Parts: sequence; C-alpha cells; structure tokens
Amino acid sequence: MDYRRFFEDAIDQLHAEKRYRVFANLERIVGRFPRALWRTADATREITVWCSNDYLGMGQHPKVIAAMHDASSRMGSGAGGTRNISGTNHPLVELELELADLHGKEAGLVFTSGFVSNEASISTIARLLPNCLILSDELNHASMIEGVKRSGAEKRIFRHNDLAHLEELLKAAGRERAKLIVFESVYSMDGDIAPIEAIADLAEKYNAMTYIDEVHAVGMYGERGGGITDREGLSHRIDIIEGTLAKAFGTLGGYIAGPKSVIDAVRSYAPGFIFTTALPPVIAAAATESIRHLKTSQEERRLHQQQAQLTKQVLAQANLPVMPSETHIVPLHVGDPELCKKASDRLLEQHGIYIQPINYPTVPRGTERLRITPTPFHSNELIVELKDALVEVWTALGIPFSTGETSPVEADDRVVTLAVSKAGG
Ligand SMILES: *Cc1c(COP(=O)(O)O)cnc(C)c1O
Repeated sequence: MDYRRFFEDAIDQLHAEKRYRVFANLERIVGRFPRALWRTADATREITVWCSNDYLGMGQHPKVIAAMHDASSRMGSGAGGTRNISGTNHPLVELELELADLHGKEAGLVFTSGFVSNEASISTIARLLPNCLILSDELNHASMIEGVKRSGAEKRIFRHNDLAHLEELLKAAGRERAKLIVFESVYSMDGDIAPIEAIADLAEKYNAMTYIDEVHAVGMYGERGGGITDREGLSHRIDIIEGTLAKAFGTLGGYIAGPKSVIDAVRSYAPGFIFTTALPPVIAAAATESIRHLKTSQEERRLHQQQAQLTKQVLAQANLPVMPSETHIVPLHVGDPELCKKASDRLLEQHGIYIQPINYPTVPRGTERLRITPTPFHSNELIVELKDALVEVWTALGIPFSTGETSPVEADDRVVTLAVSKAGG
C-alpha cells in the first residue's frame, strides 16, 4: 500500500469534480464588520464579507466583548476539565439556565459545538429508546445525519418538508413503536421553513418524539430570539430544541433544551458530552450576554430582516437569479461547480467581495450557488456595491441572468430606488 499516493488520489478526485475546498485567510476587524483583512501569499487586502454566519454581528457587540474580557480577567482561559471532572464553571451553569428559559423548557445542556450537540443528542436519544425508528428530513444537516447513523437505530428519510410522506411513514410504524422525528426550522441553503405546527400535530397523532434544529433561527426570530418556534408560539409543542451559540449569538458552542428527564439522560449517556473538555468560561459568559441582549432588543432582528429583504430586491431587480427564500438567506443560483468557484474568485479578486461558493455535497449537484447572508451591518451602499459587482461577474463569466418575469422575488421598485439613491449609486 502506497499510503501517500492513496491520499493524493483522494484529493485529486475532489479537484477533478471541481469541489476542492480553498479557505480564505481572513482577519475580522472589530467595529468595522463586515469588513475584514484578506491575506494571500503576496498581499493583504481589505474586503467585505458577504457570507458570514455572524448573522447579527453579535461577535463584535461591545457587551459581548466586555463579558468576555471580564470573565477572562477573573477566570482565565480554559475550563480546566470535562464537565464531570472540574470543568463545570459557574458561567456555564448560568448559560444552561438562560437557554432553558429562552425556549421555555425545563432544562438546557451545552456542548462544544452545534455539530456535537446534534451528533451526541440524536444518537443518544435514539439509542436509549427501545427499537426506535428515526424519521429524518432529507435535507437535514450533516451533524444530524451523523447522529442518526451513530444511533444504530432504523431510519426512514422523508421528502423535504413533505407532510404526506412523513405521515405515511409514521402510520406504517404504528402508534406503539418508539419514533423520533428530526428536522430543522430554517434550512440554511435554501432559506425555507419547516411546517412546524403540522409536524407537531402528526407527532401527537402518532405518538412520536420531536427534535428540531433551530441553528439558523435562534437569536434571529421570535420576540425573544427563541427561533421560529418562539415566533410561532410552538416551543411547547416540540420536545427537544437544538441550537448554536456560534451563529447569531456570535460565540461558540451548541446546545439542546427540553424536558429534564431527556436532558439528564443525554448528560449522563452521551460520550460526545461526557468525554471532552467543557467550553471555557469566557465563551459561556459571552454567549449568555449575547442571548440576554437579544431577548429584549428587537433592533438587530428588525435591521437584519430589512437589509436581507433589500438585498433580495436589489439583486432581483438587476435580474440576478435570486432563488426563492422565506428568510434572511439569499441564495444566488449558478448551477455549475466550476463557474461557482470562478464567480467567487472573481468577486474576491476584482471586487474585494467575499462569498464562498457552495457546491456538492453541501447542496445537490446542478444547484451550486452563492449563498449571501446580509446582516444589519451591510449598509445600502454595500448592497448596491454587491449588485454592481455581481452583474460584472455574471456578464464576464457568461452566467445566465434570470429573465425579468420568472424572477421569484418581487422587486419593489420604490424601495430599491430609494435604497440606491440613498447609497448614491
Ligand atoms: C452550522 C450548523 C450546525 C452546527 O453548528 P456549529 O455550532 O457550527 O457546530 C448544526 N446544524 C445546522 C443546520 C447548521 O447549519
């Protein structure tokens, strides 16, 4: 066995499929988000980031940074151990109470990432339930799929957001069998939303447990930032709500919130929770501050929706192929992995605009796209600048524009004109 050759071949395969990943070397600048420094072998340039998951800019919020400074000066850097062996610092205990309250649940449990929280929780819950059948949406995130696989439980994949298909599978399993439905609220590649209430109704009818990933909604939706379940008053109808502290809350870590018994069982049985060092107190303190701020402040959420809507409209009016999205996510269809990468490269090199290409396996082949995530800090000027750059890139590379009539996003001419004139574009 030529080991080196084996790995080189594996990488060559990715190059051949035009999906070899290249990371941009960035340095974020506090107070100037979404501006950042981009380093290459021969230069450092200032650019605008248009694909950050720091959706509300909380990663640079003065209160969050202050909480971090305060915790580090009082408690130092690391946690000092696993949760069981000296790593449960007070800020982490406070954070878990804050999360339980955010979702109106009895208890919360924090993990080192959202990925780990899904993998550990889904696998543990389904493994503990006798002869459990997992019903999983076909577009679920990789971390949920890992959890499903690791559980060893039998699974059925239901077509994306397809209630009839889900019901058919539930019915076939019968009321008596243990069943766990796992799905997301906001699907982050298309920006669509699950029919949560109808899924909860089905779960009740067929006596299934429900597990929702609200990673792309927590902080951003609902009166207190508790996600789509908060916005729609459905938190109490879902058993387990999972979220991240790393996207809208601007820090790091993942969590679940739910009934005391389930949380305690995951705490006690999940290797991904037990055998790893706890989050540092600085991170826990910063996350708590961020959650508390967003529980009362509506300003970030309002501006976020406003700028996302404006971005969709400005791009659609320029006949750029904005894919339909009910949320803050703005996907722009390219449909070819090589063109997608080229468009991204050209935006960065010629225009100082960074949007990472999204290719297979993150999205199905043929639906390669640029996934744009406007934030409250993407001003009207930046939106117009983005539109101009995209039009140049689409033209230069010969990527198809949408014909005006088929554009899925209604362009409100008055709003767009206002934005453009304000931006002096
Ligand atoms: C990003 C993401 C996760 C993982 O969260 P991290 O905190 O980044 O590990 C889980 N689920 C979905 C849907 C995600 O997009």
